[in-house]
Amino acid sequence: MRIPIKEVTPGCERAEVCGFVHEVRDLGGLVFLLVRDRTGIIQVTVPKKKVAEDVLCAVRDVSRESIVRVSGTVKAIDKAPGGRELVPESFEIISRAESPLPLDVAEKVPAELDTRLDSRFLDARRPRVAAVFHIRSVLARTIHEYLFSAGFVNITTPKIVAAATEGGTELFPIAYFEKEAFLNQSPQLYKQMMMGAGFEKVFEIGPIFRAEEHNTTKHLNEATSVDVEVSYADHHHVMALLEDLLVTLYRRVDEECRPFLDAMEIKDFSVPSCPFPRLPYDEAIAIAQKKTDEQVTYGDDIGTAAEKAIGEEMGGHYFIVDWPTAIKPYYAMPYEDDPSICKAFDLMHPRMELSSGAQRVHQYDLLVRQIQSKGLNPDNFSFYLLPFRYGMPPHAGWGLGMERLVMTMLGLSNIREAVLFPRDRHRLVP
Ligand code: ATP
Ligand code: MG
Repeated sequence: MRIPIKEVTPGCERAEVCGFVHEVRDLGGLVFLLVRDRTGIIQVTVPKKKVAEDVLCAVRDVSRESIVRVSGTVKAIDKAPGGRELVPESFEIISRAESPLPLDVAEKVPAELDTRLDSRFLDARRPRVAAVFHIRSVLARTIHEYLFSAGFVNITTPKIVAAATEGGTELFPIAYFEKEAFLNQSPQLYKQMMMGAGFEKVFEIGPIFRAEEHNTTKHLNEATSVDVEVSYADHHHVMALLEDLLVTLYRRVDEECRPFLDAMEIKDFSVPSCPFPRLPYDEAIAIAQKKTDEQVTYGDDIGTAAEKAIGEEMGGHYFIVDWPTAIKPYYAMPYEDDPSICKAFDLMHPRMELSSGAQRVHQYDLLVRQIQSKGLNPDNFSFYLLPFRYGMPPHAGWGLGMERLVMTMLGLSNIREAVLFPRDRHRLVP
């Protein structure tokens, strides 16, 4: 019976393990192999004179990264990893790896990101790469646990849709029988409709598709969004939820993911503390105007250079609040006393935007007017507008980019490092 390599301790008498051949060293009378599975590495020591002929043949024949099954006796030995070695009685090559490998798993030769992504399955055999996705998995589990225990209902909304969420040109058109359809850019309209269904607290972790042509280090064409919508809540309420969730995620990684952080050589992992500063949009613009050479104008969206300057000034996570109504989507609620600004916010990491959210417009007439004021035709949104005519609770919510969360948390330089199989302007395979 195969056991995980981690469970082979110096006290074991016998063991059978399976895994990849990490390294082979032939020292004349002795052959050393390192065998690796998800849990660790074990040294397999083969004294040529003392093992059966068929074992020796197989050991001599094996290539790096082949899959082997080894069973034999365990000996305590100080110099080997984990303080033990396995001396084989049987040695079977289950699946042979061709050589040369397209990518050096033992990481002696550094590779370009493109080469790595082309052979992602090999790339992900490296502990420092695998660590990113183990941590991402812990984040996904923690988000589910956190939101379920706060009474949220998990929903799934369609990814094939007939109309744009916000108008605009960021959509991928697809052929849908005799109709034109699109891949959805956001679950926004659907999660709001579920407020009209009385669900009160919903969340979805799912794909969003953006046909933006830019090829940047923080944009993907297929990303993962953590979306939340809450009834009888305003923007303050959901900002507090978002910052508490974020701190919970950092804390969980700090507590549970030490071996993965070590594999990535992250030494200075620190948990941010709540509450994050709330920086009004006009003050953010003033900081950017002072600190960048680029022209930054009140009423424009905050560009990359401005984002960087403000981030440096703030030094940690922060919210930008009180945005001009004109540059936020039609569903963001304007302030009653000054409708030129609205109850929208962005959650920022010093490096980039992580999330956008708002209290939403829940009044049918106001919503129709706001759709029109963006130059959009309310007739194209009739399916969305319908619930607003039959009792719609006030509500608020946000969408958080999963890859940007992973990227900023782990200090990755490119968002593609936070996705197993990224989709960008040039990459559709694998
Ligand atoms: P940006 O201005 O940085 O392009 P955005 O304001 O267009 O982002 P939103 O529509 O507000 O993005 O989406 C909410 C969140 O989803 C963003 O804050 C981000 O974390 C994530 N997100 C959006 N678009 C992308 C993308 N193309 N690639 C990766 N993540 C994205
Ligand atoms: Mg945004």
